[in-house]
Amino acid sequence: MQTKHFLAPASMILAFSCTNSQNAGETEITTWQNDKSAAISLTFDDGSPNQFSQALPILNKLSIPATFYIITGDVAGSEYHGKFIGRPVGDIIKGTADTLTNKDNFFERASAIPFLGYKGTLAYQTDAGSLYEQEKLDEAYHLIDSGYKKVRNGELKPADSPDERNKHLTWHAVKEYAAQGHEFGSHTITHPRLSVLTEPNLLYELEKSKEEILKQLGESHTFSAECPYGTEDERVMSYAYKIYPALRNRMPEKYLGELNRSEKTQPGSLNKEYVQWQRGATTKTPLSLMKSWVDTVAAHKNDWLVLVFHGVDGVGWEALPHEMLQEYFAYIKQHDDNVWIATFADVTKYMRERMHATVKGKETGNKIMVDLTHSLDKSMYNIPLTLRTYIPTDWKEVQIKQGDKTKTVSSGTNHKGTFVLYLLEPNKGTAELSDGKR
Ligand SMILES: [Zn+2]
Repeated sequence: MQTKHFLAPASMILAFSCTNSQNAGETEITTWQNDKSAAISLTFDDGSPNQFSQALPILNKLSIPATFYIITGDVAGSEYHGKFIGRPVGDIIKGTADTLTNKDNFFERASAIPFLGYKGTLAYQTDAGSLYEQEKLDEAYHLIDSGYKKVRNGELKPADSPDERNKHLTWHAVKEYAAQGHEFGSHTITHPRLSVLTEPNLLYELEKSKEEILKQLGESHTFSAECPYGTEDERVMSYAYKIYPALRNRMPEKYLGELNRSEKTQPGSLNKEYVQWQRGATTKTPLSLMKSWVDTVAAHKNDWLVLVFHGVDGVGWEALPHEMLQEYFAYIKQHDDNVWIATFADVTKYMRERMHATVKGKETGNKIMVDLTHSLDKSMYNIPLTLRTYIPTDWKEVQIKQGDKTKTVSSGTNHKGTFVLYLLEPNKGTAELSDGKR
């Protein structure tokens, strides 16, 4: 009899614990949206024509959103074009006859050289900028001197006047692509070497390109940008971060490890909450290697693969054939159930929202109340986060109500118990979870 007395309450406890798990209400934000293992962003630089005529239709067919960093001065109908802001260029040219280039006049001369009115002078800025960023200052100064010497000696042909008719990309088309779900971001007005520009010229390239995109496409396309040549120059980064919230060049957060395009380290070796792994596919990159990048990030939990593409079908830098892109994009899409394919802006927003969020879940009566808030600018950081909330074990279907929105999702189980995974918009009020069958 005693044994029976013992058994009855014990089985009652068992029955009770079956329907009310210890951790009901416990809620976490998953590392990536929809609890995927990794994130992938496809980014395209320079806005070359075949990106839109060849690559974009493939992306659309596969429903893959991508990010395009465009040179806004190259889009037909743009208000802002390349120019030099400073002293009359004639005075600068004259000065080069008397004084060699040095640290005090280098930025002015490098900023002005594409705008002297002669053919082929842009290359002096581009190459001097490259030398400058490699800390080969004397070589950079000499190169600028040699360019100005050619100008003074009349060795260069006059430049053609700019021709709007040769511009393949229009704002009308860009708007259409943006409406298809793609992100557009600034790649400056003229694609200069920003590191060797004077402050007014540097700011012009960054600010007016942003203004152009804002006017044409709205605020969601002025979130991320890429400064040309993948520069990580400190001075450029400090100016650019005052203008754009996110840069593909480099990100400021301490919780994000970064492996840029030239980095040999594998992403699994960094001990960070998130790791951004940039890979640039060039004409020498075998497709098998490109595919292995996807496999690598899918095998970890915290990796964000950022792919960088340039030319397509012979047009643009390191152009890849569209047949190869077709196969690669399809391969990425095959991993859709395991990797989150999203624009550079959306992945950045998700990480930042999650890292600045507070989530609280509480079981009250037969409901679970969940509050999700974050401390960031609510108009900019507006993408839903994925929550995992543990629920009583007998809830098979769960109704989730937030404001006047209601949805029903099915439960799942892991080693910790029964849970439900769902997207929730931060700062939009308490969500109410209840047994969908009741
Ligand atoms: Zn570029």
